[in-house]
Amino acid sequence: MTVKGVVLSQKPFGEQDKFIDILTESGILEIAVKGSAKVTSKSGSASQLFAYSEFDIADRRAKNKASVLSSVTPIHIFYGLRNDLNAVALASYFAQVILYSALPKSGTPEILRLMLNTLHYLSEPGHDELVLKAIFELRIASLLGFQPDVVMCRKCGNYLPEQLYFSPEEGCFFCDSCRQQGILMPAGTLQAIRYIILQEFGKIFSFRIAEHCRQPLFDFAEQFLQYHVDKKFPALEYYKQIKRTDFS
Ligand SMILES: [Zn+2]
Repeated sequence: MTVKGVVLSQKPFGEQDKFIDILTESGILEIAVKGSAKVTSKSGSASQLFAYSEFDIADRRAKNKASVLSSVTPIHIFYGLRNDLNAVALASYFAQVILYSALPKSGTPEILRLMLNTLHYLSEPGHDELVLKAIFELRIASLLGFQPDVVMCRKCGNYLPEQLYFSPEEGCFFCDSCRQQGILMPAGTLQAIRYIILQEFGKIFSFRIAEHCRQPLFDFAEQFLQYHVDKKFPALEYYKQIKRTDFS
């Protein structure tokens, strides 16, 4: 059996072997990579973390065992991630969100596409990592079935209040004359959230956001996803920790 997928995690076992979890169009697949497999040093990077590759495997799921890797060919290696500690930490967080969530049974081609695109932009020099993080968080939440209501103030129907409060828990917003509870944000942040959620996929990575609109977007995206997935992500804690430490 041959599958295309991106490596989301790897766990070594024994001296030369490892298990990897890959995200494919039809879900997560665990594969045992034996040191003795035809994983030569040339193709070694193809089974490393965040590599997008074509895996040739012996499928043993019918026996409730991990499939075993026969050979692997890289499709795309995100080399730009290698020397960027923040980007690797963020990519690990994205991987944990996918691994810890109940994925839709109908298959996950959109989730694979979102992960590959996010990794691509994350590995580009000069990327805006906090905006990428917010895009990933809001889009994955939608794909997992949690979409905030971005239409209008739930109480009075105001479509674009100058200031509003967006509730990560309730997933809806209120203008500041109706209720003052949730994350306070200007109209520009609401427009950014609408864009990320409603815009067609090919365009979501290209938008600009004014400086004063950024922080409420980042707070809302992270808290909204965190609340609805209801899991702790160690890689997110690690990312925040290294952000606090200035290595330069
Ligand atoms: Zn209102």
